[in-house]
Formats: sequence, structure tokens, C-alpha cells
Amino acid sequence: MEFAEAQKEALGCTKCGLCQSRTQVVFGEGPLNAGLFVVGEAPGFNEDAQGKPFVGASGMLLDRLLDSVGVGRDRAYLTTLVKCRPPGAFPRPPKPSEVSSCRPYLLSQLAAVDPLVVVAMGDLASRVLTGRKESAARIRGRAIPLDGRYVFPTLSLARALYTPADRALLLSDFSRLPELLAAERPSTYETLNVTRSEEPEPLQPGLW
Ligand code: SF4
Repeated sequence: MEFAEAQKEALGCTKCGLCQSRTQVVFGEGPLNAGLFVVGEAPGFNEDAQGKPFVGASGMLLDRLLDSVGVGRDRAYLTTLVKCRPPGAFPRPPKPSEVSSCRPYLLSQLAAVDPLVVVAMGDLASRVLTGRKESAARIRGRAIPLDGRYVFPTLSLARALYTPADRALLLSDFSRLPELLAAERPSTYETLNVTRSEEPEPLQPGLW
């Protein structure tokens, strides 16, 4: 699906039950030539209210992380696995069926932006984007070559907001991004030696 078509369709989408809990669709934003593509789990309260990804406290933390590596928010494409806020004051993670329903929009965004680095924030984004079962805490900070780009799992902003130790880990992971953004596109399934030297486990097909 073409990007413009995907965006237009998503803004009125009722393909899954999350259409009932949202105020508005949060499709994503950023330049279509961004080298860095950041994927969170789902819009939260503030994102749902403003129609923009990564706002409120988590957005401020992301801005600080991006600034720390010299990539301002305006140079990254920001989005989430699902484009509508799950229900509840403390929203649950999206269900697999909801992630699956929303997948064509994410694929369209990835195809249009064609980033070199995809940062997967949190367990669910990490699992969906890498096709691996481990938690983000277990494989965080690794650059996983997949389909001509590097998928880079790390912790969720929500988790880091409340835990200083996790915030430090997130900052440490982001500090590796400039090296990764300067790398060549991967043409094989070798792991770029950005963080760890051990061999990666066999990859399962990921989202794409
Ligand atoms: S989460 Fe995605 S698939 Fe579900 S209603 Fe929203 S835009 Fe459509």
C-alpha cells in the first residue's frame, strides 16, 4: 500500500476493536527520508489527545535521548505498532490480532521511509520487529540486521520514566546509534559488532 493511501485509510480505520477506544488515530510523523525510525507500542493518553506520537513525559524523554545523539525529533520518523490507543486508564498492550490488523500501515511507513535503523522500544515492539521471543531487556542494544536495515531493540520509555536505572540503560543504548547510523546497510545476516561480540541466535522472520 502506498504511504499516502495508508495514511488516508488509517485515519478512518475500523479494522480492529481499538477504533472504539481511541479519540483519534495517531499515524506517526517525521520526514520520509529519515535514517532513524522509532517504533513504540501504542499511543497513550497524551498521544491520543494530541494526535501525535511520543508526546507528554515519554515524548520529553525521547526528545532528550534523541538530542543526546545529535538527532533531533525532526530528523526521525516516529510511530507505534498500532495507531489507536488501547482502552483503560492504564491501557493494556495491544493484542496480537490488533498488531496484525495494523501491520499494513507500519509496513507502508517502513517502505516509504526506508530507514537504516529501526529502534524498537519495549518488549512488544522488539518481539514484533525482530521476530525473536526474548524480552527487550535481554536483547537491548544489539543491532540485528534484517531486511537491509538494523533493528535495534531497547527498553520502553514508560519503563525508563519510572526507573532511573532503566533510564541509564536507555541512554547507553541510544549512545550507540550514531555509530549505527553511519554504518553501511547490511547485506547479510551477520550482526554488526556494535555492542556485543557473541553470535546472534538464528532469526525468525520478523514483521517484514
Ligand atoms: S489500531 Fe490500526 S488496525 Fe486497529 S483501528 Fe486503529 S488504525 Fe485500524
